[in-house]
Order: sequence, then C-alpha cells, then structure tokens
Amino acid sequence: MKVVILGAGVIGLSVAIRAIEEGHNVEIFAEKITPYTNSDRAGAYWSPFTNTTTSARIVKWGKESYRTFCKLIKVKNAGVSLVDGLEYFNSEDQFSESWCSYARNFRKIPRNELPKSFVAGFSYLVPVILMEKYMRWLMKRFGSLGGKVTKKRVCDLSEIDSLSDIIVNCTGLGSIELFGDKLVTPIRGQTVKVRVRSIDLSTSKLYADPEFYIVPQSDGILLGATAQKGDWNTNVNLKDTQYLIKKGGSIAPRIGNAPSIVNESVGLRPYRPQIRLEIEKRSKGEPPVVHNYGHGFNGVTFSWGCAKEVVEIIKNYFRFLDLK
Ligand SMILES: Cc1cc2nc3c(=O)[nH]c(=O)nc-3n(C[C@H](O)[C@H](O)[C@H](O)COP(=O)(O)OP(=O)(O)OC[C@H]3O[C@@H](n4cnc5c(N)ncnc54)[C@H](O)[C@@H]3O)c2cc1C
Repeated sequence: MKVVILGAGVIGLSVAIRAIEEGHNVEIFAEKITPYTNSDRAGAYWSPFTNTTTSARIVKWGKESYRTFCKLIKVKNAGVSLVDGLEYFNSEDQFSESWCSYARNFRKIPRNELPKSFVAGFSYLVPVILMEKYMRWLMKRFGSLGGKVTKKRVCDLSEIDSLSDIIVNCTGLGSIELFGDKLVTPIRGQTVKVRVRSIDLSTSKLYADPEFYIVPQSDGILLGATAQKGDWNTNVNLKDTQYLIKKGGSIAPRIGNAPSIVNESVGLRPYRPQIRLEIEKRSKGEPPVVHNYGHGFNGVTFSWGCAKEVVEIIKNYFRFLDLK
C-alpha cells in the first residue's frame, strides 16, 4: 500500500521507518529536511514529563521509545547514549511515577534528599540523543530501506491525494495552516552548548527540572532551554544565552561564568494541549489522514511509541478495507 508522510522531522521519519519495515511503499513530502527542521534543534533526552496527554498513552509511547533508544545505543552513528539522570519537579501535577518507573535503575528520591524548592524527584538511566547525528541516521536508515523523500511544501491535500492510499500528517507547526488547527502554537526554545575540560559520559550526570536542564553530550554540555510560548523568532538571543549560562553555572559550578561556547541554537516546539494521534476519514475517494502532531516538549521521547501506534492504525484501516 502507498503511504505518504507529510513532514521529515523526528516524528515523520520515525513513522516512515516503521511503515516501510511493515512492507508499505512509503514516500515523504517535506518542506524542510535535516539539518533544517525543528527536530534538529532539540536537546535532546528522553523525558515523558510536562505533557497533558492522558497517562495511559504516555506510558505506552514512552515505554516503546525507551526500549528502542536503549537498542540504538549499540548502533554506530545513531548518536544515542545512556547517562545517569536526575529529574526534579516543583509541583505534583507535573509528573506521575508510572510514566518512568520502568526506566533502568529507576529510583524515587526521598523527600529529605531533595533540593529545597522541589516536591519530587527521580533518578534513572536516561537516553541522550545527539540530534544532528540522530536525524542524519534516521534519514539514512529510511533511504537504505528504499524510502523516497521529496522536498516540497504541500499547500493542499489534493496535491498528493492521487499518490497515496493513506496520508500521515507529521507536519508539527505546519498543521496550523494545512489543517487549520488553531490549538497548535510554537514554544520557542533556545539552547547553548558549552565546552568543559573533559566529558566522560559514563560518569557525567544529566540534570533536569521543569524550567531547565543540563545535558552531557560527547562534544560539550548542553544548557537549555527557554520556553517562550507563541514566539516564532528563530534568531539566537544574547540575553537568553546569558541567562542559560548563569543558570547552568549556579547548578553546576564547573561550567563557570564565561565558558567557551560550542554553539547556540533555536527551535520551535510544536505545542498542542493534547498530542493529536487519530485517523480522520475524508470524503469518498479521498485517502484518510492519520494525524500525528503537536508533540511540544516531548517529540523525541514519544517518537517511536507514536510511530508504532500510527502503523497499527494503518494496519487496521487496510484490514477494514479488505473486509468490505
Ligand atoms: C530547544 C528544544 C529542546 C527540545 N528538547 C527535547 C528533549 O529533550 N526531548 C524531547 O523529547 N523533545 C524535545 N524537544 C521537542 C521536540 O524537538 C519536538 O517535539 C519534535 O522535534 C517535533 O517533531 P516534529 O517532527 O513534529 O516537528 P518538526 O521537526 O518541526 O518537523 C515538521 C516537518 O513537517 C514539515 N512541514 C510542515 N508543514 C509542511 C507542509 N505544509 N508541507 C510539507 N511539509 C511540511 C517541516 O518542513 C518538517 O519537515 C525540544 C525542542 C526544542 C526546540
């Protein structure tokens, strides 16, 4: 069956790989491809928090992705590593233990061991994903399976209807215009990567709280990220860089107050109060659309879990057609 995927960010590429592995004929149409997507600007580490989608789905998506990233650690050039992580929360509604309790080396931090302003915290082994490497690897993997990518901005579904039996919408912020979804909005995120004398990923720790994170990566320490809702500006802002360095230095003194900068980066998170993952039937003769967008802060974290669900929806749809 011919599956057309709209979008080549982490969401589109993950679905594309799973769909082609299922034996479908898959083509991606995307306005931007790596290294120019928002996904290329992500932190990124696995973290199923700061999301309002219902818990059962979070557990399912997060678990599937965690399992997949743990496998990818062993894959050369995928850019995935596993580090010790500490994640803190300052209110009860930001987390549920069940969202991450299956992670390796999971431990709930006792209240008396928490820094003052936090009400809960977990430690566990966290997949860290070097996005510039990972996105390249996803693209290559899709190509090696026979997938085709066409660089094109789609303005109306009629442009691709005749090419597909089913369409998967992974356009993130593009869904505002293409599907008129007014619930989607950008949340601007700036990061800065700083150099420190030496980084040993086997002993470095990842730190995260709802407003800030410090992610050890092979080429530096990533400090992030700002979260400016409704802000479409993709230029680096000096004030944001200064804020991130100051904050990082206050938590990890080894960063100092004037570290050398490896790079600064800005991306726009495609935020939606609830991730939209569902099939939309259209008029007779038009292929249906499986929507998979609005992942906000957690697109990398849920990518493989959502891809699995999309492929199940596609399978059920074709089975239903066979029965008719
Ligand atoms: C600074 C920062 C840090 C982050 N850190 C993390 C993290 O640590 N962990 C985590 O899980 N997540 C993180 N995220 C969030 C994550 O990056 C996003 O949720 C994820 O990248 C969204 O992926 P996407 O594929 O939906 O969107 P995008 O990457 O924006 O991809 C959308 C694709 O659709 C295409 N498109 C749009 N409209 C059209 C159209 N009309 N026609 C054709 N193509 C179209 C685009 O060109 C692009 O190819 C972070 C984000 C930022 C900005």
